[in-house]
Amino acid sequence: MTATIIDGAALARRIRAEVGARAAALRAASTQPGLAVILVGDDSASSVYVRNKVKDCEESGIRSVLERMPADTTQAALLARIDALNADPTIHGILVQLPLPRQIDERRVIEAIAPDKDVDGFHVANAGALMTGSPRFLPCTPYGVMKILEHAGVELAGAEAVVVGRSNIVGKPQAMLLLQRNATVTICHSRTRDLAAHCRRADVLVAAVGKARMITADMVKPGAVVIDVGMNRIPDGPNAGKLCGDVDFDGVLAVAGAITPVPGGVGPMTRAMLLVNTMEAAERAAARTAGR
Ligand code: NDP
Repeated sequence: MTATIIDGAALARRIRAEVGARAAALRAASTQPGLAVILVGDDSASSVYVRNKVKDCEESGIRSVLERMPADTTQAALLARIDALNADPTIHGILVQLPLPRQIDERRVIEAIAPDKDVDGFHVANAGALMTGSPRFLPCTPYGVMKILEHAGVELAGAEAVVVGRSNIVGKPQAMLLLQRNATVTICHSRTRDLAAHCRRADVLVAAVGKARMITADMVKPGAVVIDVGMNRIPDGPNAGKLCGDVDFDGVLAVAGAITPVPGGVGPMTRAMLLVNTMEAAERAAARTAGR
């Protein structure tokens, strides 16, 4: 068997076009959707991510404001900046690029963002809303994965879904979303005994670990749908430094039924879902204003 390769980049293009149409409609109704992105320090990977987010906004008709703050920014200064953006009616979404410098408490910062502008979906109010089944903003990566599964026509009700990784931004919300779609969900992590046995049971396997190519063909059930969230750099060999996922793509391709590539799978969908969340925030704000 050779797996179908799911083209996340093409699906993301479609979603961006839909966002563009929604943004134009909202502008015509006198609201310009706006996203503020805060970058503290000059981490090179973060700078690239932020640049891409700003570019995506421009292409979709969303106004973006990039706020660069120096690496020695105090927590108080960052919180004050967030307060100002919370109060700014032209800003509908606020995103603080993680990780933050050591002197800043990440959790404090996330909780300072107004929940109705928390387009990353990391605020405890949004995490709780997801947990209790009435989500407002879904974290972009698991949201993107759900869109990929929907687009690929994967039947989730009753399916065995295994999520490898339990971070607050990917693994846990991913598991919750799969559960809401009636999959039977297992969450694996670094203390899981016999990871391979769990993975082999999966009809849908989501790898969100951060370890290059750790999911190998012998860990995959024939015909399974494999979603690779990982973004790693190949440590050595002729392709050293190139981007790769948590899944050994070439090996798993021969066993799985469908698989997302890295790059070109979950990554572009994560970016696209940020635009969707920002549009939703802007549309809700416009509806609130109209209802006054
Ligand atoms: P974290 O480091 O926060 O979490 C990694 C998880 O993997 C942890 O729960 C950890 O377990 C688990 N883990 C580590 N080693 C093993 C192991 N040997 N066996 C089983 N589980 C293990 O990472 P993130 O969730 O933030 O990100 C995961 C990956 O996804 C990274 O490569 C990241 O770059 C990528 N990513 C990609 C995005 C995209 O847009 N494509 C967006 C966000 C992330 P424990 O909890 O026990 O430590």
